[in-house]
Amino acid sequence: MSKVVLGGGLSGLSAAYYAINKFPNQVITLLEKSDRLGGWLKSTRQDDGSIFEQSARTIRPSGEAGANTLQLLNELGLNHEIVPILKNSPAALNRMIYVNGKLHLLPNSLGSLFKKQEPFSKPLYRYFLNDVFATKKKIVDNDESLYSFVDRRFGTEIADYLISPMVCGICGGNAKEISVKFLMKSIFEKEQEYGSVTRGIIADFFNKKEKVTPVYTQLEQRANTEKWSVYSFKNGIETLPNALRKEVSSKGVKIDLNQDIQEIEVHKKSILVNKADGTVLLANHLISCIPALSLAPLLKKQHPYLSKMLSSFETASMCVVNLKYNKKLLQQEGFGFLVAPKENLPLLGVIYDSCCFPYEDSTILTAMLGGFKFNTYFNEKTTAEEVLSIVTKNLEKILNISDQPDNFKVSILNQCIPQYTVGHSKKIGLIEDYLRDNDLPLSLCGASYYGVGVNDVILSAKKAVDGL
Ligand SMILES: Cc1cc2nc3c(=O)[nH]c(=O)nc-3n(C[C@H](O)[C@H](O)[C@H](O)COP(=O)(O)OP(=O)(O)OC[C@H]3O[C@@H](n4cnc5c(N)ncnc54)[C@H](O)[C@@H]3O)c2cc1C
Repeated sequence: MSKVVLGGGLSGLSAAYYAINKFPNQVITLLEKSDRLGGWLKSTRQDDGSIFEQSARTIRPSGEAGANTLQLLNELGLNHEIVPILKNSPAALNRMIYVNGKLHLLPNSLGSLFKKQEPFSKPLYRYFLNDVFATKKKIVDNDESLYSFVDRRFGTEIADYLISPMVCGICGGNAKEISVKFLMKSIFEKEQEYGSVTRGIIADFFNKKEKVTPVYTQLEQRANTEKWSVYSFKNGIETLPNALRKEVSSKGVKIDLNQDIQEIEVHKKSILVNKADGTVLLANHLISCIPALSLAPLLKKQHPYLSKMLSSFETASMCVVNLKYNKKLLQQEGFGFLVAPKENLPLLGVIYDSCCFPYEDSTILTAMLGGFKFNTYFNEKTTAEEVLSIVTKNLEKILNISDQPDNFKVSILNQCIPQYTVGHSKKIGLIEDYLRDNDLPLSLCGASYYGVGVNDVILSAKKAVDGL
């Protein structure tokens, strides 16, 4: 009996971890295309000690998926590596949006919901009252865009100034195309069931079954007591895949790098993987942890329907620019700012790394560009110098920073982030039906399917293994 994990990003390493724990006597092989593990997660220590993150940098401790990651960190012994951002720190409280040519602080306290605060034309609570009176719309196919849902329930300003920049910040996506279920599944369902979100929340409150007392792991307890908003690691987010690699190797998982798999055969009871060196690997189950678009061609000959469904998933590309200045330059401390798509800028947002994780007398920023607007501003010929120049011009315009960075890194990440457009969950349902109806020994996990964040991909790997 043996299992193959395809892909050595965070989801693949997590799948290998859960698989070797559940089946300690089986042969577990992890196949990775490149010469390193970790996928998009990459933390590069600079000569001066600062860390440049290529993609993810912070993790949320909340919710089922957040708790699952904390449990994993506990098991890996990473408790002392964690650096939290506390809920009462400026980095947690001060989140800004760039709209109408200016930076605006988003309301961050109960009191601020009752004050009119630019760019909104009325206090925020008034938009939420909208929901009480707005009529319910029956939605065809049980899905619509996030923008259209928020516009209907809370008004256009909330859709333009809050939701659209937020979607850019999370997945570089266009709120007018991304499914409401990506961020607001439960409140969308409340509206569909009770006629308004508010009525749904009230009904839920009264229908609440017996309260279950949650059992917290040691690390979750610490996160609650210390009031973490988000967290990262002393040596950067790559600490997590590095720890997983060490753990799974020590438990006997075979790690095979430089294996750009081009073909797999998925039969009812077996899997054949044609490896790059010409040999064939036989297994009784394959957990695919590679992006849907990479898996699609591998299944084309044998499962054209599945392959076609997988190839219809969308992704977006991004440019990520890390910048370090050897002095303090920011006028307002905070997590950073997001740009409202209405501004028509190539910039999606800027994270103030040196406010989140203070670093001597320096300013460290990460600018993210492109996303759903990538093809408007960039192409395969765009150079790092051009991207840097776009970033520095925008930083001068928005943050008044005219200095050139003392150190920088430009990464162009092709098709790095899945876009859960309207109809995503229906496609997932059809794929799951196909795998079940055909009794195929293939599980899917990773960012393409059940959530794009670090927590989501770890939980998707756990669920895939639990289901075996
Ligand atoms: C710019 C950016 C910022 C982000 N910020 C955050 C954040 O702050 N917080 C957060 O929670 N999440 C964030 N994320 C999301 C997070 O990084 C991802 O959820 C996570 O890294 C995805 O891991 P994965 O294993 O699913 O995919 P990947 O990292 O894509 O790994 C897939 C692996 O499969 C390999 N592979 C592909 N094809 C084959 C093949 N044919 N054969 C063998 N191997 C193959 C690839 O080489 C790769 O190593 C961010 C993502 C991006 C791009």
